[in-house]
Amino acid sequence: MMRSFDLVILGGGMVGLALARALHNSPISIAVIESRELDPQLYALADNRVSAINRASQNFLTNIGAWSQLALSRVQPYHQMQVWEQDSFGELHFNAQQGKLSELGHIIENRNIQLALSQSIAQQANLTLFCPRRVAQLAMGEGEAWLTLDNGQALTAKLVVGADGAQSWLRSHAGIPLTSRDYQHHAIVATVETQASHQQTAWQIFRPDGPLAFLPLFNAHHSSIVWSASPEQAKDLMALDDESFNRQLTMAFDNKLGLTQVLGKRACVPLTMRFARDFAKHRVALVGDAAHTIHPLAGQGVNLGLMDAAALAQTISENLDSGFDIGLYPHLRSYERWRKTQAVEMIAAMEALKQGFSGKHPLQKFVRDIGLKLVDNTPLLKQRLLAHATGLVGELPKLAR
Ligand SMILES: Cc1cc2nc3c(=O)[nH]c(=O)nc-3n(C[C@H](O)[C@H](O)[C@H](O)COP(=O)(O)OP(=O)(O)OC[C@H]3O[C@@H](n4cnc5c(N)ncnc54)[C@H](O)[C@@H]3O)c2cc1C
Repeated sequence: MMRSFDLVILGGGMVGLALARALHNSPISIAVIESRELDPQLYALADNRVSAINRASQNFLTNIGAWSQLALSRVQPYHQMQVWEQDSFGELHFNAQQGKLSELGHIIENRNIQLALSQSIAQQANLTLFCPRRVAQLAMGEGEAWLTLDNGQALTAKLVVGADGAQSWLRSHAGIPLTSRDYQHHAIVATVETQASHQQTAWQIFRPDGPLAFLPLFNAHHSSIVWSASPEQAKDLMALDDESFNRQLTMAFDNKLGLTQVLGKRACVPLTMRFARDFAKHRVALVGDAAHTIHPLAGQGVNLGLMDAAALAQTISENLDSGFDIGLYPHLRSYERWRKTQAVEMIAAMEALKQGFSGKHPLQKFVRDIGLKLVDNTPLLKQRLLAHATGLVGELPKLAR
């Protein structure tokens, strides 16, 4: 039997579910199609995939009723950020008070966010979840899109949204070209135990081969690491046994928190910049990693994606208020312009940061260290950097205010 929806969202990750939830009071009917069943449990040891969630994303998750569904005892606020370069005098130190903030952000396991969103949508009257399901076929008609799922179920939609991650099926099926660049970095992620407490601080050291971040978790001696290194070096590090890896890690981190031991499994993720040429076209829109991926060195990827979800929900609501067909490209253009501008700015900022810290020449290093010192001693500049880190700058979607 054919089922008709106004909006079909492919992908029930953090961004897809947030978009569905943001429209919970809307008169439209929504389907979410997710290919993988979500493990409904959080384990004693934190997952190795976590996100630094900024204030704008926190506002959004609060406004859609998902923040209160988080396992709050596992949500770790951080009040300070410490950034330095290996073997140098340059150092940057931020604290929440400088920005008149209660905290700089929160470190949260991705699964905690996904589970909170799943709980929020569970009672949502205008939503149907198809999981685990994939789309087998998609055809674009003039008045609607036609989808067939892998169990033969047929659906129609006014608008199909790709929230299906970096390898987006919808993006390639819709023929949307992708600009991409290999960052020549692989990120090793793991949960680690440190001898000293993390002091509710996010730490990042810039090393010649890439940045290494320690993000504080809900246990004062546990942190989540993101260690970016060249593909060859990452391969070598992954091949080490735990004991040798721990030694390398402790040294690489300048022994800042004493002896460090990896807990649980390490994983390695290749890092690629991706930018879809179109964020919208006839009956299609992209959000989150389906539209763009960036280097994790500033922890902004999902924050950018959540703002896409908030912005698209706002655009859809405004189109409905005006009596427009929500799937027509002219009515999606403002969303596309808005979010492309933000994504381009973020990609450029990541590039500048990565390049800025990559030169090994002593003179480059000296200039960089002076720059870091200068920024550290300029309160106004630090306040502006902090405002950017909170995400409360630029054109904010209403749901993120
Ligand atoms: C090492 C690392 C560290 C990071 N740290 C941070 C950080 O600190 N802060 C931050 O803001 N960001 C961070 N990011 C980025 C962040 O993880 C991503 O931006 C975010 O996970 C993207 O969410 P998404 O919902 O768009 O995509 P995904 O999380 O990839 O979700 C996509 C969903 O779609 C489903 N799916 C895939 N294909 C299909 C299909 N064909 N049909 C149906 N469903 C499908 C998948 O199962 C999945 O559930 C980091 C990234 C990396 C690699």
